Parts: sequence; C-alpha cells; structure tokens
Amino acid sequence: MSTDPRSRAWLEIDGDALARNVATVRASLGPGTGLVPMVKADAYGLGVSRVVERLQTMDPWGFGVATVAEGRELRERGVQGPVVVFSPAGLAEIPEAVAADLTLTLSHLRALEAVAEAAVDLPGSPDGPGVHLEVDTGMGRAGFDWREVERWGPAAQALHDGGVPWRGIYTHLHSADEAGGDAATGQQVERFRRVLEELRAQPATRTPGFLRHLANSAASLSPVGGEWDLARPGVFLYGGEAGPHAPPPDPVVSLRARVVHRKEVRPGDTVGYGATHTAGAEGVWATVACGYADGWPRALGNRSEVLVHGVRVPVVGRISMDVTVVDISTAPSVSLGEVVTFLGCDGNEAITLDEVSTLAGTISYEILTGFTSRLPRVWV
Ligand SMILES: *Cc1c(COP(=O)(O)O)cnc(C)c1O
Repeated sequence: MSTDPRSRAWLEIDGDALARNVATVRASLGPGTGLVPMVKADAYGLGVSRVVERLQTMDPWGFGVATVAEGRELRERGVQGPVVVFSPAGLAEIPEAVAADLTLTLSHLRALEAVAEAAVDLPGSPDGPGVHLEVDTGMGRAGFDWREVERWGPAAQALHDGGVPWRGIYTHLHSADEAGGDAATGQQVERFRRVLEELRAQPATRTPGFLRHLANSAASLSPVGGEWDLARPGVFLYGGEAGPHAPPPDPVVSLRARVVHRKEVRPGDTVGYGATHTAGAEGVWATVACGYADGWPRALGNRSEVLVHGVRVPVVGRISMDVTVVDISTAPSVSLGEVVTFLGCDGNEAITLDEVSTLAGTISYEILTGFTSRLPRVWV
C-alpha cells in the first residue's frame, strides 16, 4: 500500500491478478478456443497500454476494441496481431480502419459496400485482416438479422470474392451474466447455430480458419463458451463478477486515497453539501482526497463504507467533487496522510467492485470505466 506520499488518490492495479483471471478463463475454455481480450474503453479504465503489454505475454489470438480510434491507438503502440473493432464503425471511419489493418465487424449492407470501396482505393493483401460479420440474435443493437441469412450471406460472399476476406461470424449474448438467463442464452445460441447451418451455402464460411464466436466473460466461464473458435472476455479479467456460472474473479483494481483533514466533531455538527448528515455525538471525521470527479459515484454519499486500519467506517454526507468525508470515530487514531481504501483490501477486510456497484445502483463496468484521468494508475 505504499506509494508516493504526494499522491492524494490513486488506482492500484494488480497485474498478477489480471493474469490469474486470464488463466481462469483459459482453463474454462480449453485449448481449442483463441482468446480475444476486450481492451475497449482504455481496457475498462485500467489503462490500455500496460494491460496490453501484460496480456501480450499470455499469447492472445488478438485484441478486441470498440472503436476505430482505439484500434489505431493499439497499432501506434506497436500491436501487430489481429485487432477487431466490435462496435459498428461509422461509414466515414471505414477507410482509415482498413488502412490501419483493423478487422472491422459489419452489421449492415451499406457497411459491406463501404469496405469494398475502401479496399479498391487501398488494396490490402489477400491475407489481410478482412472482416467479421455480426449476427443479431436478440441483442437488437447491431448485427445482421438471424432470420435473413439469404439477404446478407451472398453479399458477404461477394465481398470475399471481390478481395476483402470474410474471416468470421459472431453474435453477442444479452443475458449470459444474468441469474435465470440460461433459457435466453440457449435461444440465442440456437439461432446462431441455425445461421451457421444456412451459411454453409457460402464457400467463404467453409474455408479452414473461418472463425465463429459468441462468448463474453460470462459465457466463457459457462458450458456454452468452450466450443467456439474465439472468446471475447472483458470484465472478468479486470475483476468484475461474470454471472451465475463464473467463479469470483481475483480483484484487480484498488482505489486508495489519503486523509487530508481531520475534525473533532460535536453533536449537531453537519457535513457536506445540503448538510445531509448531522453528528449525533462527539466523534471524529476525516476528509479523504477522492470525490466524484475521480469517478467515485456521488450516489454513494451517506450509504457506503471505506476501510481504514482494516476496519469499515461509514461515509457521512454527500460525496463532493474532490473529497469524501468519513466518520472515523471507531478508528480515531487515523491521522493526516494515512491511506483510506475505497475499493480493495485492507487487512482482513475487503470492499469489492460488485459491492460498490450494487450500492451505487450500477454495474462494475460503469465503475471501472468511470475512473477519471486524475487518478494515477499504479501497477503493483
Ligand atoms: C464488451 C464486449 C465483450 C466483453 O464483454 P464482458 O461482459 O465484459 O466480458 C464481448 N463481446 C463484445 C462484442 C463486446 O462488445
């Protein structure tokens, strides 16, 4: 827990825990499935550069991002293998994606045309990255409709014959991480299988190495994950729980901040904007240097806890932009400059990502991606 005493607040990232979570996913998938760690949104807020560096030592098949800009950033950082862009690219972004050797995922016929046009202007090699097609089996936000294979299958084959390799097909599951989601997942898998069956009419899909994939973290750790060519885990690698079939992840991210002010309080003293908390007795409050501008949810005011000296103490009052006040009356020896844990372990106590996100009424993904650039990412 030691760090630069001048740091007010910081994220600690445990690279070995990240590696253990990767190993857990790998063990569940088996050796036949290639790993495409999702590193979109700055690797879920952890910092894509160090995350990719660490993951590259673990021999992934490639990396998954959301946007063309994220893919280009990986190329600029020297990543050479497949980089797949999973959100639908805007038509205007397609030429630069092709130029950067990114693997685009396509969801509609207009995108197929745009890729074909970009490839005429900028012919790639026949062993270039090509494209994957997304199939909408129920997510509803992107992908070709699973019932309309005869409409888009031949178009994708034509693109392939025209020189843009059609290298894969996938779908995205909407409920693999939900308790009671197995029936919905089963239906999506069945629809996807039907698509694959119908696509056998298109020769590109019968070429050796054509890739079929559907698993996010939750599915990678469940029985449906292992029978596909690739898997695309994200949140579990970074310490987020991944649904009813998954083991708990190893925690990867801790948030710590220092005490910057202490106050002996008297009954009736109030704290924070709106004076929403009033001291009922004599005690001690500590002001800690982390607030909602660091990405700590304001929704946690008056209802969450932090750790000091290995014990839980309550947050009092609203969380401010830059600081949070906690009641240290049960740990009154806590002094200026000491470290408070908002997320992670201190002694035998731990505050988990999922505990915090549930209390804040959100999901671990939003907490992780909400940490702002004011927090240095410190690898331990
Ligand atoms: C973000 C994303 C994933 C990873 O999902 P997790 O729930 O974080 O494992 C997988 N596939 C696609 C298409 C995604 O956009």
